[in-house]
Amino acid sequence: MSVETQKETLGFQTEVKQLLHLMIHSLYSNKEIFLRELISNASDAVDKLRFEALAKPELLEGGAELKIRVSFDKDAKTVTLEDNGIGMSREDAITHLGTIAKSGTADFMKHLTGDQKKDSHLIGQFGVGFYSAFIVADKVDVYSRRAGAAASEGVHWSSKGEGDFEVATIDKAERGTRIVLHLKSGEDEFADGWRLRNIIKKYSDHIALPIELPKEVAAAEGEEKPAQEWETVNRASALWTRPRTEIKDEEYQEFYKHIAHDFENPLSWSHNKVEGKLEYSSLLYLPARAPFDLYQREAPKGLKLYVQRVFVMDQAESFLPLYLRFIKGVVDSNDLSLNVSREILQKDPIIDSMKSALTKRVLDMLEKLAKNEPEQYKGFWKNFGQVMKEGPAEDFANKEKIAGLLRFASTLGDDGEQVVGLADYLARAKEGQDKIYYLTGETYAQVKNSPHLEVFRKKGIEVLLLTDRIDEWLMSYLSEFDGKSFVDVARGDLDLGNLDSEEDKKAAEEIAKSKEGLVERLKTALGESVAEVRVSHRLTDSPAILAIGEQDLGLQMRQILEASGQKVPDSKPIFEFNPAHPLIEKLDNEQSDERFGDLSHILFDQAALAAGDSLKDPAAYVRRLNKLLVELSA
Ligand code: ADP
Ligand code: MG
Repeated sequence: MSVETQKETLGFQTEVKQLLHLMIHSLYSNKEIFLRELISNASDAVDKLRFEALAKPELLEGGAELKIRVSFDKDAKTVTLEDNGIGMSREDAITHLGTIAKSGTADFMKHLTGDQKKDSHLIGQFGVGFYSAFIVADKVDVYSRRAGAAASEGVHWSSKGEGDFEVATIDKAERGTRIVLHLKSGEDEFADGWRLRNIIKKYSDHIALPIELPKEVAAAEGEEKPAQEWETVNRASALWTRPRTEIKDEEYQEFYKHIAHDFENPLSWSHNKVEGKLEYSSLLYLPARAPFDLYQREAPKGLKLYVQRVFVMDQAESFLPLYLRFIKGVVDSNDLSLNVSREILQKDPIIDSMKSALTKRVLDMLEKLAKNEPEQYKGFWKNFGQVMKEGPAEDFANKEKIAGLLRFASTLGDDGEQVVGLADYLARAKEGQDKIYYLTGETYAQVKNSPHLEVFRKKGIEVLLLTDRIDEWLMSYLSEFDGKSFVDVARGDLDLGNLDSEEDKKAAEEIAKSKEGLVERLKTALGESVAEVRVSHRLTDSPAILAIGEQDLGLQMRQILEASGQKVPDSKPIFEFNPAHPLIEKLDNEQSDERFGDLSHILFDQAALAAGDSLKDPAAYVRRLNKLLVELSA
């Protein structure tokens, strides 16, 4: 044992303590994954070394074949993993094995409920990683040395997985990391060659470098123990280089967990090899669940980039648009240079054409999922729909394709679930309907009962109900789908086109003519509050409604802008009334100008409330209403 110096005890970051606790208590039914996680880390460490050594060959310290060795000691009840990858310095060990660097982790941890079933789902969004060692071990020793550092700069990190860990500086001759797991009592089944081999085959066959186990060689009686021999137990070739037909689903799934640091299987994947002017392979995955930090600006995104099998960088963002940032995967290019940088990627025209091809692959994969696995697509939409809605604004070239993938709530459903695609909508549109009707609002409860929908209910026309914050903004980028234009039913002078019969139109004109006097009176009474007053043909039950001017900002956008402290251009609504409503008839017959004024303002304010808007002068509304109530009861 070498001498340990500068020994200190440090506490784990709070989040690590929580994660450790959760892991130990909720993953007991799937203990063996610890090996997958540690091998995955060793493989990452070797990838990093291989890449850094391109520029600094001295890091290889005279070579040695890159590999991972797993060994065990039945008597001591230990399992040991050793890699000759990049290794860790003392500082690396303290930060990487003592904290979680991901932004938003603390927030995420607040969601833990204490209910182990629910929490073990949460862990899936997080990835388990190094700390999974403590599922089976009650003490973990890590001996490591960074490639290129002096032998005297090794580190020994040690912890019982409780509140703290120890670090000390040690001598370590070989670069890389050795991890010794002291198995908990009852977990000694893992100190077994056969068991370890099976776990490695099951989870880590796809790892591109050799994983070796000690060869069982029996020493003959009286003879000395023969020198240790090793054998490779995994396939040890990069998964994406193999032909699709030869790869089993399980292999694709395990590879996904390795590169995505995810705990669950992906929903779907797309594996391709492109040959010709550009040569590259890609393997793209659609995760089953949104990571907890999907909406965080600094959250990891992008693909793992390899150049001719050599790992070059993680999170290469230039290969996919932002609205597909949830896609995980690998691209392996034959055309790029090994010393390519992020800056170069941003400018390289090769990348542009790869990006558009990869984008198309993802959209195709989603189309296929929507068509063949509608239930799974629903799940996808729940997780990533909000992000997909950024698509039409970001990716003009694929606007139509993206629009086809969008899902909305509609007046046909009754729970507000976003399940209606535009193609479904058009397929069941009314005879003569050449528009896609939609209504935006704050909440589903509010739009569902909006007076704007009355005429559509009456005529049995489906209307899409859009209540996500992003929706109004989204619709400003969508003008048509499949040649049919979108119409906001709360906007402008609703024209139902062919859906209104000639008689309907004629009758509407006649009524409008007969109410010209009332229109004028209302204009005078409402004055500055309105842009226009007109007879409505979209109402059947409500007395009045406020329509938004064709060019004006909608309520949702206005509220978003106001909330962010921006100045919102003043716009006045159009007051439309329902001539058949008893209140309007009453109004029409009202002799007193004062009561006419009060009643029209009340109708105006009520229409604003029904649209989900707030009143400019709520006190005035209450005063007027109470005045009427008093008169009623007098
Ligand atoms: P992740 O792999 O998702 O980054 P882990 O918890 O699995 O998270 O590992 C944490 C970090 O510890 C790694 O990112 C790496 O920096 C470091 N690490 C773990 N194992 C090794 C290893 N065998 N060699 C070098 N560094 C390692
Ligand atoms: Mg890991």
